[in-house]
Amino acid sequence: MSVQAAGRLRIGVLALQGDFGAHAQMLRELGAHAVEVRVPADLQGLDGLVLPGGESTTMTLGIEREGLAEPLREFARTGAPVFGTCAGMIMLDREHLGVMDTRCRRNAFGRQVRSFESPLELPGIEGPPVRAVFIRAPWIEEAGEDVEILASVDGHPVAARQDNVLVIAFHPEIAGETRVHELFLAQVAQRSGV
Ligand code: GLN
Repeated sequence: MSVQAAGRLRIGVLALQGDFGAHAQMLRELGAHAVEVRVPADLQGLDGLVLPGGESTTMTLGIEREGLAEPLREFARTGAPVFGTCAGMIMLDREHLGVMDTRCRRNAFGRQVRSFESPLELPGIEGPPVRAVFIRAPWIEEAGEDVEILASVDGHPVAARQDNVLVIAFHPEIAGETRVHELFLAQVAQRSGV
């Protein structure tokens, strides 16, 4: 996809808490139009949505405060691509927004292992392994049969897809790793016919 084509894509980034700024910047570097989402009206006219990493309890409170839970579910139900990273992956699971048929375990890699980097092979991404930076990361503890596991670390799923929803437990946006966002944008472009 060319930068020119990406420029026609409006991608929302949930901007209540967490590292939404780094996602917006990476999306802009890739040529997309990034829009910060703080209230339900901000979801209007978006082609795709990113739920960033951060702190899932604080993010849940923000979503409740702004009345965003049902509008976010509704957005995902339209079939528009949604990309959740780390706390964003947690927000999409059964125990939070219920968009994905997963249950995540928070801070799953243990308190001692607060952060680490691991090279990951992801289907659809060519070239060297993805530089996956994990920060107090979750993993997917349970997944329904409609969930496709894309990558695991030590046997624990850390990347998955269910229909229009892509989730990863790591932070490409702080590692200068653009290829997962490019994969997401390609999905958005395909759906939006760009
Ligand atoms: N540990 C955080 C949580 O449970 C998620 C970490 C992250 O997004 N980097 O909310």
